[in-house]
Amino acid sequence: MIAAGPVDEIGHEVLAEVGVGTGAGLAGLFAAKPAGDKDMFFRKLEDCRVPRWSKGRVVPMGDSACAFLPTAGVGASTAMESAAVLGDELGRTDAMGVELALRHYETRRRKRAEGAQTASRRIAGLMFVKSTPVAWGRDQLMKFYSIAEFAKEIELSLTEPI
Ligand SMILES: Cc1cc2nc3c(=O)[nH]c(=O)nc-3n(C[C@H](O)[C@H](O)[C@H](O)COP(=O)(O)OP(=O)(O)OC[C@H]3O[C@@H](n4cnc5c(N)ncnc54)[C@H](O)[C@@H]3O)c2cc1C
Repeated sequence: MIAAGPVDEIGHEVLAEVGVGTGAGLAGLFAAKPAGDKDMFFRKLEDCRVPRWSKGRVVPMGDSACAFLPTAGVGASTAMESAAVLGDELGRTDAMGVELALRHYETRRRKRAEGAQTASRRIAGLMFVKSTPVAWGRDQLMKFYSIAEFAKEIELSLTEPI
């Protein structure tokens, strides 16, 4: 179970300490939660990207290169695509060519991974709305908007080569 919302409303110190939200509207949400559940944790919904993808014989991959918000549902797929490309590049070279292979990996992956991340940020902009009237308006509009249209950018990218 995930409860997401503005940190100032959920009260993240409280969440971190006892794993229960106390903000307005959250009372009772965790009523069924076992007392003293140690598996509950607080996680800030944020992402990040690294300024460079290769240094010598080291490359970051997956979330360590380009961490995703859980808004588009493509972080794991992107990480797996990157793993496939890295394997492909390393499989075409020997020890002497590793650094070049890693630069090729960056060239092939960076734009696509960061593009998907940008799409997930755009979706977050629609989801993370604080204003109640704006959220209401969004919810009304969403009734006329299919999930296919909502995720069109991401769906299109999945038809392109990795
Ligand atoms: C709530 C939520 C929902 C999501 N939903 C989706 C979804 O529906 N679809 C989708 O595609 N993606 C989704 N994602 C994103 C996806 O989970 C990540 O993008 C993906 O797991 C990244 O894979 P990774 O291998 O790079 O990193 P991780 O899966 O984070 O793996 C890193 C591993 O390294 C381990 N580790 C860390 N430090 C060390 C260390 N020092 N020594 C040894 N091991 C270490 C960690 O324990 C972890 O097991 C979601 C993410 C969140 C938070």
